[in-house]
Amino acid sequence: MKRLREAWQQWRVGAQGSRSPAGLGLLLRDHYPGAVMRLDHEGVVREVNPGFERHAGHAPEQLLGQRAVLLDIDPLHGEFARALAHCLSTRQPWQGVLLCRRADGSLMHQSTVIQPLEEGPGASLQLLVMQRDVTGMRERGLQDRMLLSRLEGTLSRVPGVLFRLRQDAEARLEFLYLSEGVKALPGLTPDLVMDDAERLLGRVLSEDRQRLATSLTQSAVSLEPWHHEFRLGFADGVRWLEGRAIPQRRRDGDTLWDGLLIDITERKRVEQRVQRLVGTDMLTGALNRRAFFEQGEAVQARARRQGQRVPVAMLDLDHFKRLNDTFGHAAGDRALQAFAMTCRDCLRPYDLFARIGGEEFVVMLVDSEPHEALAILERLRLAVAAIELDVEGQTIGFTVSLGLAILEPEASLDAVLALADQALYRAKHEGRNRICGPVEGASLASGTGPA
Ligand code: GH3
Ligand code: MG
Ligand code: MG
Repeated sequence: MKRLREAWQQWRVGAQGSRSPAGLGLLLRDHYPGAVMRLDHEGVVREVNPGFERHAGHAPEQLLGQRAVLLDIDPLHGEFARALAHCLSTRQPWQGVLLCRRADGSLMHQSTVIQPLEEGPGASLQLLVMQRDVTGMRERGLQDRMLLSRLEGTLSRVPGVLFRLRQDAEARLEFLYLSEGVKALPGLTPDLVMDDAERLLGRVLSEDRQRLATSLTQSAVSLEPWHHEFRLGFADGVRWLEGRAIPQRRRDGDTLWDGLLIDITERKRVEQRVQRLVGTDMLTGALNRRAFFEQGEAVQARARRQGQRVPVAMLDLDHFKRLNDTFGHAAGDRALQAFAMTCRDCLRPYDLFARIGGEEFVVMLVDSEPHEALAILERLRLAVAAIELDVEGQTIGFTVSLGLAILEPEASLDAVLALADQALYRAKHEGRNRICGPVEGASLASGTGPA
């Protein structure tokens, strides 16, 4: 190319007469870093450049005086012949890539320019044909395309959705890329979501939308990696997605995130189960002590805001040691399970029911007035007394004593439990299988006495 440039410079400063288009053609012929041919108006090769054999793979004498279409490897394909005919009839240049055969039979892709040359009025048309071998370039291109399609195959098998998300100055979101993994979400494909991001983002549960928008904004401002968990709603249920992405700011002010969305629905389900287990007593399924205090405090906070009083009862099985001693610890365990199941049946789902000791339980009656609480607990006491447990062919029963206290808006949970415990103590003393209330000495309801 350097030689061509030098020749061009010489041509420009040359005498006026030598600056004809054909003169330029001669320059190209001698200095073009590829194969150059001059054809006459019938497409017959009249001249080739010095580097022709090296570039085109044909000795000049094989072609000189021959029609140039001989170079065309495929007479049926005939692209070169058509291009020559086009240039000769329209006197317009042509360019493209032609497949040519070298003298040794090998094929090469030649980037080809055909330039019509006219010496002057009346002179016959000539064609300057310039070719450069682009076989290597094409092969590299093919390899790149193969690599890309293999990469796309790999991406489609990634367990999740790879994406590129753009946020513009008006905070509009657009997916510039999504991998095939998005098809795992009902009714979604990469094309649909790239066409309209709302097809995916519109499924984010309304209570998660604001948090999602905030997390993206924070990442866009700080350019810190984005990490967020959110839910999508579909006809067959809710899916949890975890997103992680690296943001970058573009010169035009847009933010781009490249990252991955993973379906974590199953993990969330297990987490929730573990959470339930951690907060739950294994034997009875009741809340454990820690969970009771956590949830009890939340109930209390709400009641305090609404100025409500919350009934809290302490329950203790009567003569349970004796039951254990008589029928065995396993029978005692089954009695505890039957007791817990009966209690849950008597309570509403949002009432708290917790095992806070061996055979000591607490009930917190959410949204109940104290007099309603008494009726509920009395039904519970009777239901427990009616339990019939079959132990090795023998039917055994047991009873429960209850102490009721009222959690006043400003009192603490510990204080009300202490009051309930005192009431329970009285119930035991007054003969068990009964409920004692908060009023000193008053038995709110009495049962049939110990079994
Ligand atoms: P009271 O009517 O005065 O409450 O008499 P009680 O026998 O129930 O008295 P106490 O509270 O002293 O005894 C509780 C018994 O409960 C002692 C213990 O062996 C038994 N217990 C505690 N936890 C479990 C358990 O998980 N399984 C079984 N089978 N028994 C338990
Ligand atoms: Mg007991
Ligand atoms: Mg006890």
